[in-house]
Amino acid sequence: MKVLVINAGSSSLKYQLLDTDNQQVLAKGLCERIGIDGKFTYKAPGKNTIDAVDVAMPTHSEAIQAVLNALVDKDNGVIASMKEIDAVGHRVVHGGETFACSVKIDDKVMAALEECIPLAPLHNPANITGIKACQAVMGPDVPQVAVFDTAFHQTMPPVAYTYALPYEYYEKDKVRRYGFHGTSHKYVAQRAAAMLGKSIEELKLISCHLGNGSSVTAIDGGKSVDTSMGFTPLAGLPMGTRSGDLDAGIMEYLMGKYNMDIKEMLNVLNKKSGVLGVSGVSSDFRDLSDAGEKGNARAALAVDMFNYGVKKYIGAYAAAMGGVDAIIFTAGVGENSADQRMAIASGLEFMGVKMDAEANNVRGKETVISAADSKVKVLLIPTNEELMIALDTAALA
Ligand code: AMP
Repeated sequence: MKVLVINAGSSSLKYQLLDTDNQQVLAKGLCERIGIDGKFTYKAPGKNTIDAVDVAMPTHSEAIQAVLNALVDKDNGVIASMKEIDAVGHRVVHGGETFACSVKIDDKVMAALEECIPLAPLHNPANITGIKACQAVMGPDVPQVAVFDTAFHQTMPPVAYTYALPYEYYEKDKVRRYGFHGTSHKYVAQRAAAMLGKSIEELKLISCHLGNGSSVTAIDGGKSVDTSMGFTPLAGLPMGTRSGDLDAGIMEYLMGKYNMDIKEMLNVLNKKSGVLGVSGVSSDFRDLSDAGEKGNARAALAVDMFNYGVKKYIGAYAAAMGGVDAIIFTAGVGENSADQRMAIASGLEFMGVKMDAEANNVRGKETVISAADSKVKVLLIPTNEELMIALDTAALA
């Protein structure tokens, strides 16, 4: 089945056309500056690359049309006509408590998606715009599926998702832990079971999605039972520019002292904090490791804080599940930084984790990076959210 995967942001749209039968990417690319002017990028194996060329994109509809034009182009395209696209899978950030799995989109689903907007006011409207643009350009006969970042975590028990706030904020206002990166955590958990040759139902896994945004998830028997992000993606670990968890009292103190309103405060917490804020150097872990090696103590501290935070979640989630069979590293840092994986997973020998330095000296491919006699396996698994979205979409369509 050929599935077009769409990840629509407010002014950008990433796309991939995948063949789910052989799991190959047929073409992929990016529309940028939608609503401003429009830049179009397209890559397909064996075809000419289109790199950020000007294409007018006043709205997401023109962006989708540009994608379809490129896919069916007689020289550069990968399909003969739009009819070859069997279904479209959309990444949607927030499904609230309404969506515990992916769904085929109809009018009722669209209405429920609109109801989730207050939970993700920056992301969900863009995702909905992407869906509407596809419906408008491709017509009603091509099935469209929504795949949610939050859905995988809907299996968390109340003890993990409830905040210690007056209970009516949960009942009336739906304030609870939702968690994000669910598609990634689900994908790597399935791959881990395949790599270990075990059924996912019998495994206790801790999945560490470590990138610019980072989260750790406890997965017991294939179900998310706890995760580090919360009501929003601001919670949990310190990240590229996000603070992660902090004492809420700090906000009142700083807002009073510097005369900031809540918007300015949240801008600091979302955009100026994390490893960028601590280091004063960069939000990019490669820059931080370079700076750290040259003796920049704050850059080194930022990386150490991040690694320490991940280690603490691993310990906490092993305790929460009563053990762990495998720890998974994925996303930009998890897939590429042997040093950070080593820093995080060393010192955990007391709980049966023993790394293999040589095996760990690898990047971006599925590998067991723990020692042969390690009781807990440590796995490097490149994430593939687009493939997961395509597979869910194919299954529903
Ligand atoms: P992502 O959000 O998953 O794309 O991950 C982006 C993060 O991965 C950035 O902070 C990158 O610096 C980091 N990253 C990519 N390659 C490496 C590397 N070789 N070593 C350390 N961090 C890396």
